[in-house]
Amino acid sequence: MLVPSRSITGATQLLGLIGDPVRHSLSPIMQNAALAAMGLDYLYVPFPVKSAELATVLAGFQAIDLKGFNITIPHKQAIFSLLDQVSPLAQRVGAVNTVWRSEEQWCGTNTDVQGFMSPLQQQVWPRMDWVTLVLGGGGAARAVVAGCQQLGCQTIYVAGRKVEKLRSFEAMGDFGHGKVMALPWEKVPEVLPQADLVVNTTPVGMEPMLEESPLAPEWICFLKPETIVYDLIYIPNPTLLLKLAQDQGLTTIDGLEMLIQQGAAALEIWTQQTVPVEIMRSALQEHLRKSHQL
Ligand code: NAP
Repeated sequence: MLVPSRSITGATQLLGLIGDPVRHSLSPIMQNAALAAMGLDYLYVPFPVKSAELATVLAGFQAIDLKGFNITIPHKQAIFSLLDQVSPLAQRVGAVNTVWRSEEQWCGTNTDVQGFMSPLQQQVWPRMDWVTLVLGGGGAARAVVAGCQQLGCQTIYVAGRKVEKLRSFEAMGDFGHGKVMALPWEKVPEVLPQADLVVNTTPVGMEPMLEESPLAPEWICFLKPETIVYDLIYIPNPTLLLKLAQDQGLTTIDGLEMLIQQGAAALEIWTQQTVPVEIMRSALQEHLRKSHQL
């Protein structure tokens, strides 16, 4: 698909991304392609922002009437205290990745949850009796747990190396009717035979751990033939985990669609228009092919 290009005018309005670092972000590629296709005179710009400058940057954004922005590491939690309104979903996840201006106020939400759910909704739609195993207990894992809960999953294990760090996940079980349970890493093989969905939220499998899988190769055979293996990593594609699962004939989902769908959900909030998701996907795939990452 041809990705439209466009020029900046005197009336161009700004959207953006803040983080530290932001130089490797793929968001500007897909957001600007979508904005051009929508015929909107907007530009999406990455802004490297140090933690100490967060409040100053927000005041600056207000002064220049920036319409909205995404947030990446390390500001997803720190931004809370600077916003006037935070959605209940972002409060539950404990992270904001999308901010917009409404009636002179800064509002924030979390679109990673929608991004995570989209490929599952498109392909399978989880059932309430599904057992989900989430590998890793960082920020992305909280969005995954919230997404699984929204999809109705009632039994969610969150596995990590430091089980005490995972206790906060159990409180997420108070939302909905299911249970969220912290699982020490060494107990993962016990849960694998029951798992309907396994989600990797650790960085194991991405640079510099390209040759590693969060599930040891000898553990993959514990999975049922109908188990879905979902890796949030999008480079490389597929990861070693997904290759091992595919070799065993399992259905797999990579992290690229989540990246696209969280961006599309943010753009819809900012523009209040239907977003050309296919254009965002093509722009990203073309960019990754050109840079030999796909
Ligand atoms: P994070 O907050 O740093 O959390 C990473 C988690 O992985 C921590 O719980 C950490 O456990 C665990 N971990 C790290 N190395 C490990 C290892 N060798 N073995 C077992 N566990 C390990 O990071 P995050 O923001 O959640 O992001 C995690 C991953 O998701 C990244 O790869 C990121 O690129 C991906 N992601 C993708 C999307 C998307 O749109 N596709 C969106 C968000 C994130 P400890 O606490 O024990 O260190």
